[in-house]
Amino acid sequence: MNKALLVIDYSNDFVDDNGALSCKAAGQALDSFIAGVIEKAAIDNDFIFICNDEHQAFDSYDPEAALFPPHNIAGTWGAELYGQSGVIARRMLEQRPQKTYYLPKTRYSAFFGTKLDSMLRCRKVESITVVGLCTDICILHTVIDACYLGYKVCVPQSGCASLTDVGQNWALQHMEYCLGVECRK
Ligand code: ZN
Repeated sequence: MNKALLVIDYSNDFVDDNGALSCKAAGQALDSFIAGVIEKAAIDNDFIFICNDEHQAFDSYDPEAALFPPHNIAGTWGAELYGQSGVIARRMLEQRPQKTYYLPKTRYSAFFGTKLDSMLRCRKVESITVVGLCTDICILHTVIDACYLGYKVCVPQSGCASLTDVGQNWALQHMEYCLGVECRK
């Protein structure tokens, strides 16, 4: 059974103190864990998908424009991958391009409007691990789609964070009890 790691929205805008929509300390605390799971995925020869929000500047037709400040605008500092894990992710994209992919997305779910499902199916991936941000927004919506599409899903709680503690705890419980997701440490 092939496995894939999905790293969701671990970008400057979602993590850095100066980011536009940042989880700040809660997000920054994940950096070494995410770096570690990326390295482990490479050692295990798993597929790695760097799933990253890429919005267009001044696009009033983007549904998120009415909900959030502009964030992860394509080509800007805010959309760049954050920290030590960003350095490692960029290295993996360069060094193992046949098994590491950068996947831009415009909605919460990394499956919506992307080739993710067909890419996973071609590669016979049945089991996915999801880390990154935010647990109750982009991770939750990605995980719901993954579960409906029949993937076995793991969301390690040490690898995800939210803008609020309430959102973090609720989303982990919901994924565990209502979707059967493994949310181990
Ligand atoms: Zn967004």
